[in-house]
Amino acid sequence: MNNSLAGKLKKIVGQENALITPEEILVYESDGVSLIKGKAEAVLLPSKTSEVVEIVKLAHENKIPFVARGAGTGLSGGCVAGNGGWIISTARLDKILEIDLENRIAIVQPGVVNETLSETLHPLGYHFAPDPSSQKTCTIGGNLAENAGGPHCLKYGMTLPHILGATLVLPDGELLQLGGKVPGRTGYDLLGILVGSEGTLGIVTEITVRLTPVPESVRTFLAAFPSVNEASDAVSAIMGAGIVPAALEMLDKLTMEVVEAFIHAGYPKEAGAVLLIEVDGPSVQVEEESESIRRICGKHGGLNLQEATDEKQRKKLWLGRKSAFGAFGRISHDFFVMDGVVPRSALPVVMQKVEAIGEKYGLRIANVFHAGDGNLHPNILFDSRDRSMIEKVLLAGEEILRECVLLGGAISGEHGIGLEKQNLMPLMFTEADLSAMEKIRIAFNPDNLCNPGKIFPTGKSCGEIASGNYLTVATWI
Ligand SMILES: Cc1cc2nc3c(=O)[nH]c(=O)nc-3n(C[C@H](O)[C@H](O)[C@H](O)COP(=O)(O)OP(=O)(O)OC[C@H]3O[C@@H](n4cnc5c(N)ncnc54)[C@H](O)[C@@H]3O)c2cc1C
Repeated sequence: MNNSLAGKLKKIVGQENALITPEEILVYESDGVSLIKGKAEAVLLPSKTSEVVEIVKLAHENKIPFVARGAGTGLSGGCVAGNGGWIISTARLDKILEIDLENRIAIVQPGVVNETLSETLHPLGYHFAPDPSSQKTCTIGGNLAENAGGPHCLKYGMTLPHILGATLVLPDGELLQLGGKVPGRTGYDLLGILVGSEGTLGIVTEITVRLTPVPESVRTFLAAFPSVNEASDAVSAIMGAGIVPAALEMLDKLTMEVVEAFIHAGYPKEAGAVLLIEVDGPSVQVEEESESIRRICGKHGGLNLQEATDEKQRKKLWLGRKSAFGAFGRISHDFFVMDGVVPRSALPVVMQKVEAIGEKYGLRIANVFHAGDGNLHPNILFDSRDRSMIEKVLLAGEEILRECVLLGGAISGEHGIGLEKQNLMPLMFTEADLSAMEKIRIAFNPDNLCNPGKIFPTGKSCGEIASGNYLTVATWI
């Protein structure tokens, strides 16, 4: 980077908050997908909206691409810089600015960690309902940009309905205030467009979130089944009975074994699959739903249903589920997580297809997922030091997502498209659909400086990318 620009950036954020040496920048080269890497020229850590505005204006004047980065837990390469450009980290934009219980809202900076917000609110009787399994680390800004989900989004909805307002720095540095403290939108729903736009429309610097009361009663069950098939049938039956559990998660045998060895949460090793089922709400309703769930699991081949007897045990069961991705590190050098969606009733079929695809490519696949939403997370285990495996991994991943679409589903439930799935977008969208989306991107981000090269297809297949004949803005290793 030229000295004059480096000097200006240091003046805006302070010497120590403008990282420009390769060593300082190294840790920002990928997100949760270790397969995708890109090198930024600078990483900037502003602490105020006005600093973000100044950085973005400087980038705009000099035609320099930039990308927002929260905690970097994204699973589609969304916050990875192209080769060159600036990363604008929200790590220092981490303040809870206001908690307004009368109106059940909080105003936060985007770098506030998801779990920190809920832990702050809990003693007051509230929480922020979207709870990605990465919630100990991921930020509210990243949740907004990805329209993140989480185990409890089955009942409470994804991030979108929990966002009431946002301050947005447009890619030319202009400030926009979208929404506010009250629900309901007048005019075009620009906030709705912003949520889930994967950081391609500007940088969010303040967010007004809706607060959800902590439920009166919660019961958590671990139901063991002989196989994923019976567990999937039970999922359909529970939902078909009109029950909407707060969470309905599945872990297959391989995942359970790995998690149990790591967390010792009491997952039954002899089972072929388990469901982690939580119901919450008024005590009477929770009582009734618990009885129905017990009955349905028994009827669908359930081997055993244990209930968390206290908060400590409940937390342990959840820790097992939420630590699953990390636990794969015990048995595999790398993993590549897919994020397909199918109609719930297609779960048994798609799980058989996933198994067959694993066998076809000689890859181990471990499954842990939001079963109630039909949102699969097959984790393809591999070793990136063996480069011959990478092509197989990408092809297997693509095949899984194609199967999801054939079954009436989608290529992403919550992790976004980013750099990972952009070339699969035509499986779901026509040229006219994609062109309509691109027109929205152009309206906000006409010079395509803000997070360029994401979401929209480049026209290359995974095989071509894996064979090294093609480089996206960042590089698949
Ligand atoms: C172990 C693990 C478990 C996970 N479980 C879930 C899960 O259950 N559900 C789920 O939905 N996801 C899950 N994820 C994925 C990820 O945690 C979520 O997508 C999360 O919302 C990303 O937040 P982040 O702060 O890490 O964002 P980053 O990864 O830093 O960025 C993600 C995107 O948001 C954009 N962005 C970030 N901040 C801003 C901002 N201020 N303004 C504009 N754009 C911005 C970035 O440019 C990028 O495009 C998981 C990831 C891991 C590693």
